[in-house]
Amino acid sequence: MNEMAPLPANGADCTPVLRERGQREVFCGLTGIVWLHRKMQDAFFLVVGSRTCAHLLQSAAGVMIFAEPRFATAIIEERDLAGMADCQDELDRVVEQLLSRRPDIGTLFLVGSCPSEVIKMDLSKAAQRLGEKYAGRTRILNYSGSGIETTFTEGEDACLASLVPEMPAAQPDAAPELLIVGALPDIVEDQFLRLFAELGIEPVFCLPARKAADLPSVGPHTRYLLAQPFLTETARALEDRGAQRLDALFPFGAEGTTAWLRAAAESFGVDEMHFNRVVAPGRERAKRAIEHSRAKLEGKRITFLPDSQLEVPLARFLATELGMVPVEVGTPYLHRHHTARELELLPEGTRISEGQHVDNQLDRVRADKPDLTVCGLGLANPLEAEGFSTKWAIELVFSPIHGFEQAGDLAELFARPLRRRDMLKV
Ligand code: SF4
Repeated sequence: MNEMAPLPANGADCTPVLRERGQREVFCGLTGIVWLHRKMQDAFFLVVGSRTCAHLLQSAAGVMIFAEPRFATAIIEERDLAGMADCQDELDRVVEQLLSRRPDIGTLFLVGSCPSEVIKMDLSKAAQRLGEKYAGRTRILNYSGSGIETTFTEGEDACLASLVPEMPAAQPDAAPELLIVGALPDIVEDQFLRLFAELGIEPVFCLPARKAADLPSVGPHTRYLLAQPFLTETARALEDRGAQRLDALFPFGAEGTTAWLRAAAESFGVDEMHFNRVVAPGRERAKRAIEHSRAKLEGKRITFLPDSQLEVPLARFLATELGMVPVEVGTPYLHRHHTARELELLPEGTRISEGQHVDNQLDRVRADKPDLTVCGLGLANPLEAEGFSTKWAIELVFSPIHGFEQAGDLAELFARPLRRRDMLKV
């Protein structure tokens, strides 16, 4: 089933959006644990799921040797599925074992999965009960990463949204604070924090914080910048607590990063000359780094199949900074408000699609014949076999791609498959 619908008036333009509902080919929200557990240094993710969930996590996380791992799966066995065991009691037992062995855990996330949903296991009740038991020692929260409810990056959104009610309330007369929202690799986060410090913007906090104890306060004094375009629920929860979103491009490429920083600078009254002085060196470095990939990418046509929700800002980056031609930009969900500025900058005629219908989308790839298709792992091999060059969307989520210093690497991630194809042709 698909239908064309215009963007509503509050969107940046009236580009028609092709809406599709059908079979999906994306990872579930459990995948987010792979990057979230690295980011939140004293958090533990306990997936309440099946062996399939455990395998997904282990293969997505690769081979990791931790003295003390920070995620695990409480396996729901067949007798649990058949309703023969009291899963809540078993979960209490597992949590007790875990927390008695690991006093270092500051936040424990109980993560729902398809099996826990199928047996209607109430993890919010469990989190509340266990939260009371371990109050003052470990914060216990829950969210769903199930494939029934979430796709890929929505797991991070659900996780961060679960943290928002835990953020302390600020004093009514608190001075403005900047909050960066979205898990970024530490190295990228540090670069941004340095730039904000040079700009004279302070204090700056991050959600998620690296340590449970550093969870920032929130209130009408909070002005937040989204670092990721897939944080719809988190944004809503922050706004419910009075925070204001700073509207900006996402920090991809020289121009996206400049615009993102500028939104904060304007909000905090940073002088324009000072802004330019601080930002110019990084921006120039980014532009020079991007240039290395221009010859390979300029004029090339690219299709994004819906996967990570990064598609719209990445297509904008490739179109405006590298001269690529987006043919179709598919995204699992289109948040019009958050991506309004990005949509405005996409070339006229770019087909935007929301949702997934694999067969229809593959048919359009075959008809469009783009030079490069960005898609999930499951679709890449069949498309390569048909002669299409592909890029795995998951690499874009796992690689540091935000900010000035990563802009060259981001461009190179798209240039590499085209270079490889040229080498194979020789
Ligand atoms: S949550 Fe669902 S989709 Fe994800 S690994 Fe577990 S069973 Fe599979």
